[in-house]
Amino acid sequence: MSGSRSRTGVHLVTYWRPRQSSADDIAQAFLKQLAEFRRRYGWMDRAACAEVGGDTWFPEKGEPTDAAKQVCKRCPVKAECLDFALETGDRHGVWGGLSERQRRDIQRARERQAAA
Ligand code: SF4
Repeated sequence: MSGSRSRTGVHLVTYWRPRQSSADDIAQAFLKQLAEFRRRYGWMDRAACAEVGGDTWFPEKGEPTDAAKQVCKRCPVKAECLDFALETGDRHGVWGGLSERQRRDIQRARERQAAA
């Protein structure tokens, strides 16, 4: 061929071009993911600890956890928080009103129960 593509060549180039996403497609995908995120983690907006902040929930090894647990007691999403910590295996700090050791005990009990 001399400088021009055959009709078949143009067709192949078009065929193999990756699909282009439109801005609407990208926006829809983003909104879908955002909705899923809010469905799964929207409870965090109601967390009592969000009003307090600080490092209270992440004490150094051996430091007391009482202050954090007192706030957790009145937290409206305590159950969701504990489920999240147990699901994700996050072992650092106080989650769902329980210390790392307390959550580890729950995990071990569940594992023993599952193995029985
Ligand atoms: S239960 Fe969880 S979300 Fe609620 S205050 Fe305690 S750490 Fe925060």
